[in-house]
Formats: sequence, C-alpha cells, structure tokens
Amino acid sequence: MTNTPVALTLNAGSSSLKFGLFSIGAAPVEMAVGLIESIGKTPKLKASFGPGMPPLSRDLTPAEARDHKSALATALAVLRQHFPEAKATAVGHRVVHGGPSYDRPMRLTPEVMEELRRLSPFAPIHQPHNLAGIEAAIEAFPDALQVACFDTAFHRTHPKVNDVFALPRAYYDKGVRRYGFHGLSYDYIGGELKRIAPLIHDGRVIVAHLGNGASMCGMINGRSVASTMGFTALDGLPMGTRTGQIDPGVIFYLVQQEGMSIDEVREMFYSKSGLLGLSGLSNDMRALEAAGTAQANEAIDYFVFRIRRELGGLAAALGGLDALVFCGGIGENSRLIRERVCEGMGWIGLELDRERNAAGDTMISTDLSRARIMVIPTNEELVIARAAKTFVEMRQGGSGIPGPDQR
Ligand code: AMP
Repeated sequence: MTNTPVALTLNAGSSSLKFGLFSIGAAPVEMAVGLIESIGKTPKLKASFGPGMPPLSRDLTPAEARDHKSALATALAVLRQHFPEAKATAVGHRVVHGGPSYDRPMRLTPEVMEELRRLSPFAPIHQPHNLAGIEAAIEAFPDALQVACFDTAFHRTHPKVNDVFALPRAYYDKGVRRYGFHGLSYDYIGGELKRIAPLIHDGRVIVAHLGNGASMCGMINGRSVASTMGFTALDGLPMGTRTGQIDPGVIFYLVQQEGMSIDEVREMFYSKSGLLGLSGLSNDMRALEAAGTAQANEAIDYFVFRIRRELGGLAAALGGLDALVFCGGIGENSRLIRERVCEGMGWIGLELDRERNAAGDTMISTDLSRARIMVIPTNEELVIARAAKTFVEMRQGGSGIPGPDQR
C-alpha cells in the first residue's frame, strides 16, 4: 500500500465534514471514511477503516472542531493514527456549485478558485465552506493535486428549455438558471447501472436520491435530462429541513405581511421546514416512521406525494420510463417509503415486489413489471476519488481534461 498513490476526499457541508481516504492504484479502494458533524456546536466524529478494524465513534471537544479548519486537522490526525505511512498525492473536493460552464471535475488552479469565489452568491450557505475546506487542504498538502468535483456538473447536459426560468432574459445571462444538484450521486448511479445493468442504463431512468437532502433526476443513456432541484438546492422535493418547491408568493407574504426579514425567511426555508416543519418533531425519517402521530404521518404523506408527482413529471420529460432507482439514506433503507412511492404506479409500468423490497434486494420490481425498480447504495466519495485518480494519471503523462463519461 505504501507505494500506491493515495487520495483524500473532502465533502464540507454547512456544519459537517465528510472525509475519505482511498488508495488509487488500479481502481480506487476505500481505506477509510468518516464524518465530523455539528461543527462549532457539539461536534461528533464517526469513522470506519475497512474490514478487521474497529469503527470509531466519539464526541469531540469544542476545540477539536471549532470550525472547518480545526475539523480538518482532527480528521487528518485520526487518519494519520491509522495510516501513518499514507501521504495524499491528491485531494478531491466536493464543491456544490460549478456554475454554467464546469461540466466535469477541474484541477484547482488560482483561476478556477477565482471563478468558484465568484459563484459563491449562488450557493451562499455551502460554497464558502467548500472554499474554506479547499484553502485548508492546500495549506495542509501544498504538494498534492487539488481537484474540484461539482454537484452541478452532471446536469449540464440538460436541454436549454429545462435550464431557463420564465424571467426577463437578462437574468439567464447573469446566471439565474436551473442548475440541478446531487450530481456526484447521480454520476455514481449512472456508472453502477452501466456496470450491472447496461440495457437499463441506456434507457429512460429516474433516480430518486432520498436523504436528508432529496432530489430526483431523469436520465437517458446515463445523461441528465431533467432534475427537481433548480437554482438552489431548495427546490423540488421536501427535505429533512428544506421546503422543496414553494410558490414564491409565500415569500412576498412573509416579508410584507408577517414582517419577516429575508434572512429569517431563508433560515426558515432551509433549516426549519420540510419534514421537520410539517411534523413539528424531527427531520429524521426513522423518527417519523416510529412516531406514528398524525403530524408525523402527514409529513411522510407529503414527502411521498411530492415524489410521486415528480415521478410523473420526469417520466413525461423522458418520454416514458424504463427504471426507477432509489438511493440516499431513505431510498436505500426505508422499505415503507419505497412501497408507498410505488403503490398504484402500475399505470407508469412500475410494479413493486413486496418481498424483494422487504428483503432489501437490488432489484425490487416483480418479474412482470414493465419498468424495473432498483435500490443502489450511492457513493459520492468514490466519484471524487476516481476524479482525483484521473488527474494524478494525467500528471503522470496523460493529457486533456477528463469528461463526465470517464468513470
Ligand atoms: P442521508 O442524508 O443520505 O445520510 O440520509 C439521511 C436520512 O436517511 C435520514 O432522514 C434518516 O432518517 C434516513 N434513514 C436512514 N436509515 C433509515 C431507515 N432504516 N429507515 C428510514 N429512514 C432511514
């Protein structure tokens, strides 16, 4: 392992840092993955280190994760303890916004950093944390290749009609467009479909990434045609704490009649709405399924209803449906949500096999179902590690920027 190049992957959220260590020899192999959550509040660390090594789970002191920089230092200290020999050749970063032009991973040069800073106003809650993570990683690994992988890049194949809002034209040119997000997850699922079910991959597929953040993507031949998230990661499905689609008139009402400031509205839409807002209980689907209260059930009902609505809309955008794929924490683990999404969907060709669904199989449709239903665990970290590997290989002699198809 000592001579094999190693890539560190970093995924900095607003109050969390996910990290991974991959050996990037022939194909990337995961050595460790971890998460520091609740940075700046009551931070916790979880990490796993592959077969045979006990996982780690402990509360951190406030000083160990006061901000993203100290959280990164803590993550690196943990990795060094377990892999004292490993030296990162490349660091791959998940970056939420790549704007209208980045349709693939990019090496982080000063020019690219400048462009990403310019895009910060488009993702004010996430992009500054991503950039802070990159700056801290450059300081920690000055000799490593730094690579950015964008959540928006996968959707740059959208036809223009699905990128525009019906606003005066000048705003499109200023960047007010439907970008789409969760692209690393969709890229991974597309790659897995190509590997395990190439005929399905080539067809019309809807992927439902249902986690604390949730969105859906319609793909043909592994390329994004339409997705439910738009200008920001607030649009589309209701999420753990985010509203999903909402009539913009509600914002005018809250500001003009309720006297809320724009910052208060934003905070409410991002952090107090969605499953948490509707249930008044929790943003965690497990807690809602267990609660069984009328309000918790109503939150679940709305979540399912919106998924089913988007399913119909995306199928129309694709001109039909050959497969539905579930992923994300809820999509991968909640048999109840999968069952309720697929209930009575025979009209669109989906017939769920309840036993396969309960058993957690990969293929959970009946043998007679016209369209397939699948569950595929997603792996965004691996997509980042693959991009890092490609750039390391390019530095070793290749040339050209890798395209989105190079998985
Ligand atoms: P993610 O953001 O992809 O990590 O997904 C987090 C969401 O997955 C949370 O709402 C969890 O409650 C949900 N989740 C994880 N495991 C289960 C499960 N077994 N049943 C229902 N929801 C789950």
